[in-house]
Amino acid sequence: MKYKKLIQALEHNGYKVSFFETSVIAASYIVENVRGVTVGFGDSATLASMNLAELLSNNNSVVDPSNYSGSEFNEIAKKTLTTDTFFTSVNAVAETGELVNIDGTGNRVAGSLFGHKKIFFVFGTNKVEPTLEKAIWRARNIAAPQNAKRLGYNTPCAAKEDHCYNCTSPERICNTLNIHLKKMKGVEAEIIIIDEFLGM
Ligand code: SF4
Repeated sequence: MKYKKLIQALEHNGYKVSFFETSVIAASYIVENVRGVTVGFGDSATLASMNLAELLSNNNSVVDPSNYSGSEFNEIAKKTLTTDTFFTSVNAVAETGELVNIDGTGNRVAGSLFGHKKIFFVFGTNKVEPTLEKAIWRARNIAAPQNAKRLGYNTPCAAKEDHCYNCTSPERICNTLNIHLKKMKGVEAEIIIIDEFLGM
């Protein structure tokens, strides 16, 4: 089985794991299984590329701050923290079973830690690294610079997209680095692995 080591490590860490060949099949599975609840979204290029917020809004009440900024973003993002279900992606995942996320504002990481009945982590296999050390390196030197560029921020990494400069820019997006060592207590968590290149 593809990604057997990763799947076993994640299951050992308390997650339900579902593996899909394509994002279209994964989205159908999610739409079928998430109904009649409030759903919050963390900012994610992966989730946006799957059009998941719109697909889920047919059968759920969806709160997605992705297309907002400033105080409007903050108000909507706060509401995502108490929804029944929360969706986010990861910046990297280690084959040893740890999920790594960097955040600038904190809503994405906060939502992945507490406040929900169920959390979904959705990511493509381009995020998989063999070790936690390499996953952290990926989050800092690949995902963060590409996300800074995607969001149009004025940071040295966004200009060159080659690595992290550990900048002091006011628009820095790397203010916290969260490692999920195991599933958080008191919450259901499902990991959706998609065998495609998705997100940053
Ligand atoms: S710390 Fe600054 S330079 Fe490094 S990835 Fe984050 S935003 Fe870019």
